[in-house]
Amino acid sequence: MRRSLVPILLMFLAFGMGKRPRIEEKIRVVLLNGPSSVTISSKKPYRLDLGSLDPLSVASGKTRVEAKEGKVSIPERGIEASSIRFLPSESGLLEVEGRRYRGAIEVSTAGRGLIVVNEIELEQYLYGVVGKELSPQWPKEALKAQAVASRTFALWRKLGSKGGEYLDALMAQAYGGYEAESEEVRDAVDATRGEVMVGEDGMLIPAFFHTACGGMTESSEEVFGMRSPHLIPIVCPYCSGYPGNIWFLSLTARELGDVLSKAYGGAWDPVEISPLEKTASARVRRVVIRNRDGKEIVLKATDLRKLIGYNRLRSTYFDVTKIGNEFDFVGMGFGHGVGMCQWGARRLAEEGKGYREILGFYYPGTRIILWTGGKGIGEGGSF
Ligand SMILES: [Zn+2]
Repeated sequence: MRRSLVPILLMFLAFGMGKRPRIEEKIRVVLLNGPSSVTISSKKPYRLDLGSLDPLSVASGKTRVEAKEGKVSIPERGIEASSIRFLPSESGLLEVEGRRYRGAIEVSTAGRGLIVVNEIELEQYLYGVVGKELSPQWPKEALKAQAVASRTFALWRKLGSKGGEYLDALMAQAYGGYEAESEEVRDAVDATRGEVMVGEDGMLIPAFFHTACGGMTESSEEVFGMRSPHLIPIVCPYCSGYPGNIWFLSLTARELGDVLSKAYGGAWDPVEISPLEKTASARVRRVVIRNRDGKEIVLKATDLRKLIGYNRLRSTYFDVTKIGNEFDFVGMGFGHGVGMCQWGARRLAEEGKGYREILGFYYPGTRIILWTGGKGIGEGGSF
């Protein structure tokens, strides 16, 4: 009996956790876009790669980089190049304006300013995402669900965009670099290393997520104009513990008028906002805004959020009434509402659900596979 267990154990190691592949997938994250100068430093030695020549070694300390006539310049060294890569030593971390990052830092120019990109290995990137998206004190299974969602989202974005850079703030994930890391977060990322969600066709899904849905998640088609069988309205009674679940916003007619004038030109003195249609998840789809002179404008509610500010009009799950000279919004949840509801995931984890159950609930019809590279199709098989 004893001897027969050995080959079974070896098989488990070979095909189970032990076979988990090392993924060589780099993510490029835009850290700064447009500054005229940036200071990069390290407590350990680092190297400067100028492209054509051998990398230059720097003992340690600060290097100030400036934008100069469409080039990247290091005045103190008399260097000018179209782009400069900073490469850390084996155990070193590079600092950008005092914040630490793993991986390489690339500085190039964009218009008259600099663009600063962190090129980092996927799993290490996730250390800096999960710790920024959620608190490390949250239950481990919620952190693991976030790690799989964020990994899937990052790869989906990378494979769908040239160069895989995050440029659009709405589409991007929060990323805090090394400063956002913690033991709990690294454990959650490591425990799910390489795991991504795919649909029945084996393709990565656009794994959107948000802070709290307010009672029901939203379809991706309503917010992002992309239909997915895995991003559909799901009833979620689990995020009611979110401290900001009910929110209020008072906007004066003057404030709203200024916002509209800035976006669309002309003079605006709005006297009425009415929701025109609701989505399947009871969110406002479109609103009509009437001006004092009778002029009207019809807006998507998601565009209204963008105009007013995503942190002020916190969701499209709202009602609005006019009282005196003020528009009073009352709403539920925070965020676009598509995919995993983070506060719901937290509650499900507290109730003892595993990360696979949590992901299966918010992204129905998906399965988790090990990512081993490719063009959107995981080749590791399901497990
Ligand atoms: Zn929810």
